[in-house]
Amino acid sequence: MTDSAPSHGFLFDKWLHLYAERVETMRSSEVRDLLAVTARPDIIALAGGSLDIKASNLGKVSDIVADVLTEAGPEALSYGPSEGHLGLRKFLVKFMADEGVDCDVDDIIITQGGQQALELIAKIFINPGDTIVAEAPTYVGALNAFLSYQASIIQVKMDNNGMIMSNMEKTLKDLRDKGIQPKYIYTIPNSQNPGGLSMSLSRRKKLIKLARDYQTLIVEDSAYRRIRFEGEDIPSLKQLDSANVVYIGTFSKILSAGLRVGWVIAPRPIREKLVFAKQAADLCSSSLAQRIVEQFFHETPVNNHINKLITVCRRRRDTMLDALDEFFPKGTTWTKPIGGFFIWVTLPEYIDTTAMLAKAIQQKVAYVPGKAFFADGSGRNCMRLNYSFPKEKDIKEGVRRLAEVIEQEMELYKRLKV
Ligand code: PMP
Repeated sequence: MTDSAPSHGFLFDKWLHLYAERVETMRSSEVRDLLAVTARPDIIALAGGSLDIKASNLGKVSDIVADVLTEAGPEALSYGPSEGHLGLRKFLVKFMADEGVDCDVDDIIITQGGQQALELIAKIFINPGDTIVAEAPTYVGALNAFLSYQASIIQVKMDNNGMIMSNMEKTLKDLRDKGIQPKYIYTIPNSQNPGGLSMSLSRRKKLIKLARDYQTLIVEDSAYRRIRFEGEDIPSLKQLDSANVVYIGTFSKILSAGLRVGWVIAPRPIREKLVFAKQAADLCSSSLAQRIVEQFFHETPVNNHINKLITVCRRRRDTMLDALDEFFPKGTTWTKPIGGFFIWVTLPEYIDTTAMLAKAIQQKVAYVPGKAFFADGSGRNCMRLNYSFPKEKDIKEGVRRLAEVIEQEMELYKRLKV
């Protein structure tokens, strides 16, 4: 037995008196925990959050890696600047211009995925007990990053057009009345995780005004912006108010999550602190991974590539929506994503999706329970379903199996009530 192996079913931790207080608020990501189960080949995983790399048609990545190593071998295998590889930052200036954001190479810091940007932002802004405002529900990894710095997170209700601004205004006013300064408002305005919906332009404008009125900052997570199936391309918050918005982007949703390359664009004083924080965290992002991304988009026009991904994801979204219509019982509702990777499903109040997960896994299908997307334990009757990764036939079969599990829960409730 190793000294970390559990004995008698629980893990005795003899270092408890040594940990920092922040360890108490750290929590495991339910999504990451589920990955272990969903990696089993017999389970239909509607729980992940990745692109289907096999269906993404990346071409000969091995040639790209070989080209990078031939052309820039020593540099690709060495430390690089903490701000990131210049060639990739130059590419991003054009990529961002395409989105309507005017920025310079010096405005951009490359990070290890969007997740590191979230962590670094939390690190430079959050003291224990500080307040962050976010959407309800929101991305699990963002909640975990903020919670690990002991933030208090207030989540604002959404409808089909994003966060409801009257609720946001009330939240900010209540905080001001209590003398609390929220450190930032975290939002995923485009094709949100978990519901796949976007914030309307008028709400974006209102949010920008409120953030300024209440002297707080906006953190805009743009992870799924390019994976849009329909509707207009709404200007980003960064485009609308560059001086008061920190923008986070990632290549995970448009190229590869395994390369771990993302970026952050922030006003200069914030950027400086983010670089200090990054230096303390990892010195720099992988020089090799950054050059692979740069070389990939040197050879493949970015919009052609993204359009292919959109075609795959749109087809899978349609398959999932059709399957939900066909199989899910009355009394269940779900979002109709305009982009992104996910559908958010709401079941009757009495169903606890965390408890139901074990039954779903017995039926060989997995989802993410809704509770993970809230800091306060709500969302227990909700679940997130992913359509970007599973094949269409698995989507249909997975939804059918899940519908059976839900119907059994409904039956059980009816019988117990009588
Ligand atoms: N933001 C959102 C909204 C996400 O869904 C994710 C990943 N699921 C991330 C950020 C982080 O992804 P990565 O670190 O791979 O860029």
